Amino acid sequence: MTAEAHFSATYAEARNKFLAAAHASGAVLTAHINPKLGPDGGELATDVARLGPPDAERLLIAMSGTHGAEGFCGSGIQTGWLRGGHLASLPAGTAALLIHAINPFGFAWVRRVNEDNIDLNRNFIDHSKPYPENAGYRELRDFICPATWDDASATASKAAFAGYVARHSKVDLQAAIMNGQYWDKAGVFYGGNAPNWSHRTLLEILAPYAGTAREVAFIDLHTGLGPNGYGEIISNDMAPKPGAARVRDWFGAEATMIDDGSSSSTAVTGDTQLGLNAALPRSSITGITLEYGTVPLDDMLEAVRADNWLHIHGRIDSDLGRRIKRQIRDAFYTDTRAWKEQAFDRAVDVLVRTRRGLSNS
Ligand SMILES: [Zn+2]
Repeated sequence: MTAEAHFSATYAEARNKFLAAAHASGAVLTAHINPKLGPDGGELATDVARLGPPDAERLLIAMSGTHGAEGFCGSGIQTGWLRGGHLASLPAGTAALLIHAINPFGFAWVRRVNEDNIDLNRNFIDHSKPYPENAGYRELRDFICPATWDDASATASKAAFAGYVARHSKVDLQAAIMNGQYWDKAGVFYGGNAPNWSHRTLLEILAPYAGTAREVAFIDLHTGLGPNGYGEIISNDMAPKPGAARVRDWFGAEATMIDDGSSSSTAVTGDTQLGLNAALPRSSITGITLEYGTVPLDDMLEAVRADNWLHIHGRIDSDLGRRIKRQIRDAFYTDTRAWKEQAFDRAVDVLVRTRRGLSNS
C-alpha cells in the first residue's frame, strides 16, 4: 500500500478510514457529534482514538482539521500513522491521542471555518477581555470581503492591497487579512465572540488528562502556507516561553518561530495551543504546527475570500459556486500522489522525533 491510499476524497471517506484504522490498532474510540450535517446529509463528528493508558504521564496529541478543509491532509497522516504501526509499542506510561476532524463541518463542506463562519485557530482567546485590534483588517474590510465577486471587485481589491503594501509591507498585508478579527461575523478569519463547538469539544476531550499528563507533545496538522509539499515545523510558543526552547531542542534549527521572520506564518491570536494550555494547566506542553505548503500565499488568501463570499452572498449550486469550491479545495490540498507521499514521509519523520523528545522529557 502506498501512502496515497491513506488519504481520502471526502470527509465521510476519511472518517471511515480513520475509524477502521483506529479499530484495527486496538485504540479506544470516542465520538463527539456535531449538531450539523454534511453536504451528503451524513453525520459530522470529531473522533478521538487513544492508544495507551488513560492515566499516562506522557501524552502525544495529534489533531487534524482545525481548519476544516486542511483535514484532507491531516486525516490521511493520522490514518497512515495508525495503519503503519507508527504509534504502536509506546513506552510504558505513554499514550497517544489522535483527534480526527476537530472542525468536522469545515472538513465536510470544504471550508476553512466552522459552522458559525469562525476560524477555530482564532477562537481560543479569553472572550471576557477586550479583543486585540486589527486596524489593517478594519481599513481594508470592504476590499477583503467585497459584496460582489466579479472582475470589477477583483480589480478594486487588487489596487487597494497594492496601496496597502506600498504604505506598509507585504507581511503587514498578510497580517491584516489573516491575523484575526472579532467584530465582522460575515468576514474572513473571524474569531467569534464565545467558545465555539470545536473549542468546547477540544476542552471536553482533554479534561480527563488534566490530572495525570505531566509531559504533553502536541502536533496540530495544517496546510496552506509555505512552499508546495514542504512540511514546516512551526513552534506554537515563542521565546522566552519554555515551550519554544523545547521545540528547538527536539527539532533543531529547522523549527521556525512566528515572531522572528523565520516562519511562513504570522503571529495569529487565539490558536489551539491556547486551548491545550487552558485544558491542561499543570502539564508541560511542547506544541508545534506542522504546516504543509500548497499554493502561493496570494492564491490561498483569494480562495479563502472567495469561499467566504460564496457562503455569505452566493450559491454553492451554481457554476461560480462549484468553481470556488474547487479553488478552496486546491488551496488547502494538493491532490497528487507525489504531494501526499512527500507529506506522509515528513509526518513520519516528525512523529519519530516527537516520540523521542517526549520520552526524553
Ligand atoms: Zn491551518
